[in-house]
Amino acid sequence: MTLRFLYILGALLALLLSAAPMAPPDAQAAAPAEISPVLSGIHAWTNEIYTRVAIYTGGEVHWQADTVLADPARKLPPRIFVDIRGAGIQSDILHNPVGVNNGLLRQVRAGRYSKDTVRVVIDLERSSTFRVFALPDPYRIIIDIDGEGEIPAPREEAAPATEAAAPPAKEPPPAVPEEQGPFLSSAPSTPLPSLRQNRIRVMIDPGHGGKDPGAIGPTGLKEKDVVLEIGRMVRERLSRHEAYEVRMTRESDVFIPLEERTAMANRSRADIFVSLHINASRNRKAKGISTFVFSRGASNQEDLELAARENGVPVARLKGVKFIIDDMFTGARKNESLRLAKTMNDAICRSVTMGYGRQENLGLKQAPFFVLVGARMTSVLVEASFISNAQEEARLRDEAYLARIADGVAEAVRYYGQNGSFTRHGL
Ligand SMILES: [Zn+2]
Repeated sequence: MTLRFLYILGALLALLLSAAPMAPPDAQAAAPAEISPVLSGIHAWTNEIYTRVAIYTGGEVHWQADTVLADPARKLPPRIFVDIRGAGIQSDILHNPVGVNNGLLRQVRAGRYSKDTVRVVIDLERSSTFRVFALPDPYRIIIDIDGEGEIPAPREEAAPATEAAAPPAKEPPPAVPEEQGPFLSSAPSTPLPSLRQNRIRVMIDPGHGGKDPGAIGPTGLKEKDVVLEIGRMVRERLSRHEAYEVRMTRESDVFIPLEERTAMANRSRADIFVSLHINASRNRKAKGISTFVFSRGASNQEDLELAARENGVPVARLKGVKFIIDDMFTGARKNESLRLAKTMNDAICRSVTMGYGRQENLGLKQAPFFVLVGARMTSVLVEASFISNAQEEARLRDEAYLARIADGVAEAVRYYGQNGSFTRHGL
């Protein structure tokens, strides 16, 4: 699109949106889609330098995103828009823009742009960079928006994962906040707020919850309950140390969409994101512990199936997802995430082995987990044992076993807290 066209488009936009007539969802008789797409929800999670917007359409849609420059003459701000073809729109969304007004963006609004196109417009308060991607089941379009000038650069000397991921000492020395200067090498110049100064913020994400039980063991143990218990234990352990501030994406048995978990971590400017899960396999003998970082693909079919299950989508659908991971955040954090993942997996295995005999260490892995997409901090996903294995399920009912896992997670976070490289974006 030419700039001139964008300007004209901008000028027309307010008019078109305000005059947009209600129209029934496009029939699109040829499409075999089981759900006819309707724009049924818009959510925004935000702070003044970051916003994630999720647009829910139910069924898969064709969409296109672009920007319009500000038009001072008409008092129109710069905008990001997403055109969604062949979708209807709920009337409550048509009449209720999502207000944000946080210094980054004003609001998100939607209207019928043409006969077969619904347009979602994000009115920005200043120019920003953004990325758009879609996730299936339920189909949603995600827009991550960053305030200009806040994008952190990777640390030059970031070492490759395996070299730098030395196992933690059996009893790591306590974290001393005053000595954590090296974390901040690439931080923006804005002074640190006193409350946050030098504290490492950790977002613990117990997987699943509410209507989503996660994997279920042979005797009925649910993954969602086990990981919540481990999450609480990790929080309790880390909270003993002044250097750590711990938050959880959920503290009870509630359902939270995957994209919201990532948004919670980003919005709260967490330094470390740990998503907790328990593995399962059709092979009832499968056992052991593995820790993942995000990648577009998986190295084997098993890991791809695992990611599909954790994402709540069929494998075929997962293969069709086009991940946008070439943004600076993802690149900057990948090596750090690999370091933490290796450290964490080794620490959990060592901790469990001390109490229960040798534990299968399945190692550091990579797979396309939705919950890690767009995370702006060092991010890992732990698969701490197999709930499908009778022996491991029995252990997962044992508080002492969960405590061993939590010890390993907390120990690795603390080791990484003292040795890792942090990007304190937005401080
Ligand atoms: Zn899970």
